[in-house]
Amino acid sequence: MPGTNLTRDEARTRADLLHVDAYEIELDLSSAREGGTFRSTTVVRFTATTPGAATFIDLVAPSVEEIVLNGVRLDNSAFADSRIALPDLAAENELRVVADCAYTNTGEGLHLFVDPVDGETYLYTQFEVPDARRVFASFEQPDLKAAFTFTVTAPANWVVVSNSPTPEPQGEGDTRVWSFAPTGRISSYITALVAGPYVGVFDSYENGEQKVPLGIYCRPSLREFLDPEAIFEVTKQGFDYFQEKFDFPYPFAKYDQLFVPEFNAGAMENAGAVTLRDQYVFRSKVTDAAYEARAATILHELAHMWFGDLVTMEWWNDLWLNESFATYAEAVCQAEAPGSRWPNSWTTFANQMKTWAYRQDQLPSTHPIMAEINDLEDVQVNFDGITYAKGASVLKQLVAYVGQDAFFEGVRAYFKQHAWGNTRLGDLLGALEKASGRDLKSWSAAWLETAGINVLRPALTLNTDGEIESFAVLQTAPALPAGAKGEAVLRPHRIAVGLYELNDGALVRTDRIELDVNGPRTEVPELVGRHRPAVILLNDDDLTYAKVRLDEDSLAVVTENLGGFTEALPRALCWASAWDMTRDGELAARDYLTLALSGLPRESDIGVVQSVQRQVKLALDVYADPNWREQGLARWAEAAEQALRDAEPGSDHQLAWARVLGSVARTDGQLDLLAGLLDGGTVIPGLAVDTELRWALLGRLAATGRADEAAIGAELARDNTAAGQEHAASCRAARPTAEAKAAAWASVVDSDELTNYVQAAVIGGFQQADQRELLAPYAEKYFAAVKGVWESRSHEISQQIITGLYPALLVEQGTLDATDAWLTAAEPSPALRRQIVEARAGVERALRAQAVDRAAGER
Ligand SMILES: [Zn+2]
Repeated sequence: MPGTNLTRDEARTRADLLHVDAYEIELDLSSAREGGTFRSTTVVRFTATTPGAATFIDLVAPSVEEIVLNGVRLDNSAFADSRIALPDLAAENELRVVADCAYTNTGEGLHLFVDPVDGETYLYTQFEVPDARRVFASFEQPDLKAAFTFTVTAPANWVVVSNSPTPEPQGEGDTRVWSFAPTGRISSYITALVAGPYVGVFDSYENGEQKVPLGIYCRPSLREFLDPEAIFEVTKQGFDYFQEKFDFPYPFAKYDQLFVPEFNAGAMENAGAVTLRDQYVFRSKVTDAAYEARAATILHELAHMWFGDLVTMEWWNDLWLNESFATYAEAVCQAEAPGSRWPNSWTTFANQMKTWAYRQDQLPSTHPIMAEINDLEDVQVNFDGITYAKGASVLKQLVAYVGQDAFFEGVRAYFKQHAWGNTRLGDLLGALEKASGRDLKSWSAAWLETAGINVLRPALTLNTDGEIESFAVLQTAPALPAGAKGEAVLRPHRIAVGLYELNDGALVRTDRIELDVNGPRTEVPELVGRHRPAVILLNDDDLTYAKVRLDEDSLAVVTENLGGFTEALPRALCWASAWDMTRDGELAARDYLTLALSGLPRESDIGVVQSVQRQVKLALDVYADPNWREQGLARWAEAAEQALRDAEPGSDHQLAWARVLGSVARTDGQLDLLAGLLDGGTVIPGLAVDTELRWALLGRLAATGRADEAAIGAELARDNTAAGQEHAASCRAARPTAEAKAAAWASVVDSDELTNYVQAAVIGGFQQADQRELLAPYAEKYFAAVKGVWESRSHEISQQIITGLYPALLVEQGTLDATDAWLTAAEPSPALRRQIVEARAGVERALRAQAVDRAAGER
């Protein structure tokens, strides 16, 4: 029984047999306010290469009303197991399917949301990977492209947006009909529909003769917080940059960006109708890092209009290329587009993407970038740090390897040749080989077909005058975790070596050498005979993907002067290296805290500041020796309070430190401060205690038993919005009582009524590092429930529960033993096993790090 799965072999067979011309899809959403189901009528026209052959079309629906193939009505029993069997095809076929499909509350398919502010219903679709079939009958695979024509009946006061421009609705009375023009030939997973009383703001992108209508939409309750000018500005910069670099005009008729509620991902690249999580409409003050992240997401989705939508992967094994390209494109556009507000985007890339990739690449589940994707279950757990972050890092290395001009020349040829078609990796590599003249076969084998991270270390000797006598870059093969797939190999690396001198506490780069690293030892003759600089930084400018270690003298200078680098990127690289050493047990958690406390006051990049703050908290919560942990947390909380009071009024740093204190406050005085900020009794000049900060402070007070149900209810009365309801649910789950934990657990595990967002909030509140004793009994309950959850819930919902409720805070051998016992007894599917094994690896790593930290305390 395939269930809702689809194998690559099935997809290949179907693609060989069929050519799909067009879908006409009629959806009746007029009774959406009542929820339940909606009528979906699909007419598909397609040809078959082998008349007489059989195939199937995908549909996930509570019931089907009518199936008519080539004028012959099929028995409704042809619909079984999320498929409709289609026997005896003609050369040219017309299929009509009438079904009742279900609205969802999981963010998959057609999501239905009711805004508590206005009581109105808001819908949007999310189809990647295989969920168009929850809304209409479809051949659910990316290489069966077709033209899609949507006709939608909906309440008269609604706005309806799809891939094609929104037509004038027809009809009278309570409902209207929107008849959209056909799309170009696109894949089903990037079709979209957004419907409800959303509000829009409009502009256009103009370039010579070209004029592309632009729209931005959100719910009315968020309109006062929407800043369309900033969003249009980034969007237009992206249009300019990508059209020039790709030498291909934007391929669709208009470009709408829709901020939608309870969205599972950051955003989705539906052709001409991008959906984004509406937390990107900022209700409260956020730091500039949040604006930068939003701009990156906007550019990422825009880049997908060409890479992904115009030219689409044949099958999900090339998902990594799709995501890596868009992730690389967002960063290079921010770095280079004229007028960009974030020209330091490569610092953010180093700080976030690389860190994510390095973490994922050391899990037992790590895999080559080119993953085997045998079916839909494989791809759904593969939206990971390898697919997005390592892939993008390796693409950055590829650009350094072939040169940026050749890279974009190859990309241009690729778009021209494959527009509206499907491709494999080889098509892009072929275009790049042609443009660059470099053979990419061995590059591809080393980088894409193997897993793990190489380590680069300097090896140098000095003469008695302090001049460099010899200098080499040593490369070691990845230490692959037990059970990881593939071979550990050395790779070709294009790197820069930065030389820094220390002047009055400032670390300034005095020279930079770029070279190819090959094999275990690469000599660098350019450095021989030179005076030894204060810091020698391998992989300066972050060109390659590797762990980098400093020589002893450089490390000593950096440890004292990390804040002294005048440029943000080398600072970010050294921060990343220190964090990596902490995770690897080469630096004790308490020493990382010391480094952070000395370096943070001079760190100006707010994104880096916030990353380091999160890492310190994680280090203290799980990597620190439990016998010392409370001292470390106390030190961190004191430092946060001091930094909050010392920060420039109204600055991003001030807000960031307020949030740190809101996560770690522990003394009566600190908790009084939070309470005072909340009730207005205490004022810190410049600190806006606005809606989101209020919830953050209240969350800590709830977790420490200082805020009761009444206080949470009062806050919800002030902010009775969807976000407010999520925060309130989180606060309730955070309370330090057995009853609160039991209620939270039951609402997630024993019931399926929570929406995706409320469930995530409850899980976030439930897991409190200060409440290990209260959480201890839930380890056993977790293993008893997890398989049933995986089998009975939707993919998103079960993944939230499986990763979110794993006893990750119980860093002890017992957790490893319980996990191993479960893995042996439960016989989980590969996708479920992978999630549990990844969670287990976190505990194993934490146990090792705790031992290192304990030893550091004894020295
Ligand atoms: Zn993407």
